[in-house]
Order: sequence, then structure tokens, then C-alpha cells
Amino acid sequence: MTAKILDGKKMSAEIRAAIKEKVVLLKEKGIVPGLAVILVGDNPASKVYVGQKEKGCLEAGFASFLHRLPETTSQEELLALIDKLNADKTVHGILVQLPLPRQIDPDTVLAAIRPEKDVDGFHPVNIGRLVAGLPASEPCTPKGILRLLKSTGIPLAGKEAVVIGRSNIVGKPVALMLLAESATVTICHSKTADLAEHARRADILVAAIGKPRFVTADMVKEGAVVIDVGINRLEEGLVGDVDYEPVAEKASWITPVPGGVGPMTIAMLLENTLEQAEKTGASGR
Ligand code: NAD
Repeated sequence: MTAKILDGKKMSAEIRAAIKEKVVLLKEKGIVPGLAVILVGDNPASKVYVGQKEKGCLEAGFASFLHRLPETTSQEELLALIDKLNADKTVHGILVQLPLPRQIDPDTVLAAIRPEKDVDGFHPVNIGRLVAGLPASEPCTPKGILRLLKSTGIPLAGKEAVVIGRSNIVGKPVALMLLAESATVTICHSKTADLAEHARRADILVAAIGKPRFVTADMVKEGAVVIDVGINRLEEGLVGDVDYEPVAEKASWITPVPGGVGPMTIAMLLENTLEQAEKTGASGR
């Protein structure tokens, strides 16, 4: 079998075009979706991600409020800015780019964002709502993965889903979302014994590890849907967590890197912000 490509670049372009149209209608009602992004320090990868988010906002017709703070910013200063943005009616979403400098506790900072404005879906209230199966601001990368999976038309209910990686931003939430779709979910991680055995059972295999070409063809069941979340920067360029060519020979569907999950993340961020703007209108409440 040769896998069909799950084209995240194309799907995200379609989603962003639809968002742009909705923004035109909202603007007629006097509402401009606003996203505030806070970048603390000079992490080069963070600068790239923040730049992409700002570009995405502007292309969609959003207001983009970028706050660049120095590396030496104290936690109190950052919390004061978040308080201000929490109260700002023109700001519908607040995103704090991670990682943060050592003097700042990310958990304290993420919990300070009003849950409704937490468009990244990292606030404990939103994570709790996800666990409880209640409507929540869903984390962007897992939300994008589910959107890609659903686009295959393959029913997720009853499928064996194996997620490799248990981070709070990808592995755990994507596992919860697959469970909510009634898949039978296994979470594998760095301490899992016989990881390949688990992986080989998967109808849906999600790799969110951060290790180049970790998932090899012998770990993949014939006909599986393979989602590669990994972004590994090697000299040869960007590489995922999946050994793409040999795995694509066995899978039914596969996401490429780049052009798979990555572009969906920003599209979902814009979607979460738009939904918040639609809910609260111009009042910001
Ligand atoms: P993380 O480092 O927080 O978590 C990695 C997970 O992989 C851990 O839970 C760990 O248990 C597991 N792991 C590590 N080594 C392992 C091993 N040998 N065997 C089994 N499991 C192992 O990373 P993260 O933030 O979840 O990101 C994972 C990857 O996804 C990274 O490459 C990251 O760059 C990428 N990522 C991409 C997007 C996107 O938009 N495409 C978004 C977020 C993260």
C-alpha cells in the first residue's frame, strides 16, 4: 500500500480562507478578533513561531498585539501584563510563547490567563474541561490533528489509537480527544516497554516525540493512518518523528513534515480566537 498524503498545508489554507470571510462579516458588526501574543526573551525558534502567528493574524484580518518583553522580565511584570490583557475588550485571545526564562514559572503564568481567552488551550480549567468531555478551548496542535484525521472519512470509534509522547501540549490532549471520539487509546512514552509491539497494533498512530525518524516501517501496521507531529531540525532540513518513505509504503494515510500537522496548528489558533470573538462580541466579556 502507498499512503495518501494528509495535506495540512492545503487544509489550513482552506480553513484560513473561511476564517477571513467570517472576519469580514464580524467587522461589519464592529468586532475585530484580537490576539495578543507575549514573547519573553530572544529564543530564536520562539521568534520564528511568533512571527508566523502574527503573519497568520494579519492575513486573516485580525488585530495582532505583539508584546516583546526582555529576557530579564520578572514574573510579576508578566502577570501584570496578563491582567491588563485579561481586562482588555479588544483582546479575545492571549498566548504566552513558551519556553519562558528560568525566573518565570510557566504554570503560574498560564493559569493567570482568563480561561475564555486561553486560545492555546493550556489553562488548567480548559484541560479539566477536556478531561471531563465538556466544551473547552482545545489545544491547537491536537485540534489540528483531529481535523486531519476526520478529513480521511475513516470512523475513529472503535479504532486502536496509539499515541507516542505524553506531553501536556500534544501527547496527553490528543489522547483525550481520540478517547472522546471513542477510539481505544494507548499512550506510549520514554519508559514504555515493547513500544514497537504497541505501535504495531495501531490503526491510528500519532508520533509526538521529538526524535528524528523514530517510527520505522517495522513498527507500523499495514494500512495504518500515521500522524507525524515531530519537528526536528537537521542539517538536511526539517524531519519528522517518522521514517517517512518506508512508512508511507505501508500506511493508508500519512502527514508529511513539513506541510502536515505544523500548518494546522496556526489555523486552529486563529479558529479558537475567532470563536472567542464571535462568542463575546465587541464586549470582550
Ligand atoms: P516533549 O519533549 O514535551 O515530549 C516528548 C514526549 O516523547 C515525552 O512525553 C516522552 O515521554 C516521549 N519520548 C521521548 N523519548 C522517547 C522514546 N525514546 N520512546 C518513547 N517516547 C519517548 O515534546 P512535545 O512538546 O510533545 O513535542 C514533540 C514533538 O512535536 C517535537 O518534535 C516538537 O517540535 C513537535 N511539535 C510540533 C508541533 C506542530 O505544530 N507541528 C507542535 C508542538 C510540538
